Amino acid sequence: MALRELHLLLTYQCTLECDHCFVWGSPFQTGTMTLGQIRHLLAQAEELGSIRAICFEGGEPFMYYATLLQAVRDVKARGWQPQLVTNAYWATSREDALLALRPLVEAGLDAMWVSDDAYHSSADEPSPPRFAAEAASQLSISPSTIAIEPPSVVESTSPEGKGEPIVGGGVRFRGRAVAKLLESLPRRPWQELTSCPYEDLTDPKRVHIDPLGYVHLCQGITIGNTWAKPLLDITQSYVASAHPIVGPLLAGGPAALAAAFGVTPDGSYVDECHLCYDLRDRLRRRLPQWLAPDQMYGVPES
Ligand code: SF4
Repeated sequence: MALRELHLLLTYQCTLECDHCFVWGSPFQTGTMTLGQIRHLLAQAEELGSIRAICFEGGEPFMYYATLLQAVRDVKARGWQPQLVTNAYWATSREDALLALRPLVEAGLDAMWVSDDAYHSSADEPSPPRFAAEAASQLSISPSTIAIEPPSVVESTSPEGKGEPIVGGGVRFRGRAVAKLLESLPRRPWQELTSCPYEDLTDPKRVHIDPLGYVHLCQGITIGNTWAKPLLDITQSYVASAHPIVGPLLAGGPAALAAAFGVTPDGSYVDECHLCYDLRDRLRRRLPQWLAPDQMYGVPES
């Protein structure tokens, strides 16, 4: 595994509780990285010899602004690209957006993704995501937008399923989306869900690391814990086919995962992620090393 990017979940906390959030971000979530932990991770990342960028996300990383600012400086000092993802709650006006963003850009911030969709702002101008994007442009970094729309039923245009109803909007049906957004959506028999459509589970170029040290291939599927074992050891010892969750997913998607553990799925599902997440939630007490932490499954740690 030659990782190019680490995505650090600076905190599970967020100012919002979006229905589609796959890490269950919330003001009531627990788990935030300290600067010392971030520096420990950056030192571990250096040992990999392949890292080019560190992206801070969450939750909402601006909630811990002082830590974020110093962490951006530290990433830049190592010669990597500091990046971040934000909901822009802090950009309450053009002036305030510049005030918050300028120190980060001066510290070396290289790229910023702003969530700007119906979940994060109203369509009325102006709004915090747009103030943030304007400030970024003014400070000479190009902002990118993450736009997820509420699920809608559209007709498939693929050659195999042309005209069939499918779900549009870009929501990934894992995390809170499974609890909040499934109603009235078309379903498919679980036996048809035989691949993982979104993640490179064999040779990923980026992983997410959370405040509890867990290294995630997909949110809630871990390959180790960096507080217990160096990241270099975790990545070097990873064998996709031998991982108890990834092995079946590679062999035959979530349907094979169900078979591997003798779990009978509950009928039909919106998509592969929906079945995968449902199975993992049911299996995680049996496989706490690989399916963790509680935060990714909607249960704040006590
Ligand atoms: S199928 Fe499972 S592993 Fe693949 S992207 Fe969906 S939730 Fe993640």
